[in-house]
Order: sequence, then structure tokens, then C-alpha cells
Amino acid sequence: MKSVTSLLAMAVLASPAAFAHGTHIPMSQQAQPVTITTTDLGDGLYMLQGRGGNIGVLAGEDGVFVIDSQYADMAPGILNAIDEIAGDAPRYLVNTHWHGDHTGGNAIIGDAGATIIAHQGVRDRVTVDVTRDFFGQESTTPAAPPEAWPVITFNNEMTLYLNGQTVRLIHAPTAHTDGDTFIYFEEADVLHTGDLMFSGMFPFVDITSGGTFSGYVAASQAMADLATETTRIIPGHGPLSTEADIALILDMLEGTMAAVQAEIDAGKDIEATLDAAPLTPWVEDWAWGFIDEARFTRLIFADLSQASE
Ligand SMILES: [Zn+2]
Repeated sequence: MKSVTSLLAMAVLASPAAFAHGTHIPMSQQAQPVTITTTDLGDGLYMLQGRGGNIGVLAGEDGVFVIDSQYADMAPGILNAIDEIAGDAPRYLVNTHWHGDHTGGNAIIGDAGATIIAHQGVRDRVTVDVTRDFFGQESTTPAAPPEAWPVITFNNEMTLYLNGQTVRLIHAPTAHTDGDTFIYFEEADVLHTGDLMFSGMFPFVDITSGGTFSGYVAASQAMADLATETTRIIPGHGPLSTEADIALILDMLEGTMAAVQAEIDAGKDIEATLDAAPLTPWVEDWAWGFIDEARFTRLIFADLSQASE
């Protein structure tokens, strides 16, 4: 496997604080060059990393198939990287879910000729203004322009036969959001997880978009069942990963959820739970800028206390 750094794009700083799931980034944090790194996985498959969710590309005679579009300001660089790989523009674009760091480039990549495909839940959210509570702050994500909307949607599973690959799009209910898809390239044995995997990091479970921890665990388990020890996994965020990394996530989720549930069972409210710091054993290995100890505690607490009501 070779990894090449091919392109520079003027784009927004990738600081953890600016990690913006469907939210707006202050102007003060913008205008840093971001490199797009292309990793060749063989069989016409590539992982592209820039700012936002990791992108998957399948290139070949039948046309270029792309998974996720990062942000609008990244899209021109992404199109350049794809042109370097395939000498062509994308024919299909699949969104793994609705968040802005995975769909922000849709209009530009769609305009370049790609037909946009996604779970129905993605279309339901990008076509309207979405207002939600984002860690205590009300945040509104305006509807995307019509040219950014998925025009082919599915509810459970969809299969494409392209470039010698059986490409399975599989919906995971109420996990990271309520419209998540993971994509498995059968012949190449490559899995793209979208944000059903934050490799080596506490995951963001967007409970304001229909995500749940029980669904996130079920999705992780479904992907672990599909993968073998040789499967290459493109996570939504983090480095190229393996089944062993999903196993670590499942262990971490089991432990952290039980630790917060114990505080709920003891009758503690969120403030008392934060004071008790039940996630301390996991913080060093898993906490990061966007989902730190306090945010992960709040997410689990909110979800599990809702579920037990
Ligand atoms: Zn996301």
C-alpha cells in the first residue's frame, strides 16, 4: 500500500474545536491550507483524507464511485484528487449520513456529474432547516441547496455492481444518526463505515439526529460480523483500521456505558455524574478535542437516562 500526498486545498483549519457536525465554523478558524492524502488500497479503491470525514473512492471502467464529500471548500481539491486517480469526474456519490463534514461538498461534486445516493434519512434532513441542541447551544443547519440532495434513496440495503465490485450499502438504524449507511466492497474486502466508526476516539453519537448508543453498539457489532481479520476498514474519522479496532471500540462502549449507567442507577443527575468522573479509565486513550470526557459523559447520560424512563 502506498500513501501519497498530492494536493493542497485552501480550506478551514482542522482544529478539534472546529470539528463541526453540521454546524457553522467561526470565520476566525478558517483559511488554513489542508492537504488531501490519497491511499491506494488496490482493486481501484482509494481512501482520501483531508478535512472532514474520510472519503472512499472506487475507480474503473464503469465510472467513479465516491463515498462522502467533506466540506464545500474541500470539494474542488477532492475532484482534483479523483481526476488524478481516474482521469474522470465521479459518476456516483454516496453519503454515509447527513452531517456537514460528509455532505458539504455534495453540490459541487453533483455539479461535476455525480448522481447522489443515500439512505432516505439523509434526504429527510438535508432538504429542511434542522434546529437542534448542540451540547447546550441551539444550532440551526439550513437546508442544503437542491443540487446537493440525494436523488436516489433506499431504506434498508442497496447493492451496486461496479468496476468488478459488489458494493453493498447497508443501513444501520438509530446509531450515529437515524440515517447511517456503511458500505462493503465484497471482492476487495474493504469496508467504509462512515461515522459508525471513529477509530481510536470516543464516537460522537448524535442523539439530536436520532442516534442512540444501543444502535451504535449494534452497528459496530454488525460491521464486526461482516469483517474478517484481513478486511481493510476506512473509518469516518481516524486512520485506516481493522476488525481488531472495532473490537476495541465495542469493549470501550460496553465499559463506558456500564460506568455511566451505574451513576444513573445510583440516582445521580448529570452534574453529580460529571463530578464522579466515571470515564476516567478511558480518557487517556479515547478522549479527543471534539468528544472530550465531559461531552462523552453527557451523551451517554442523556441517551441512557432517556432509554430507562
Ligand atoms: Zn457524523
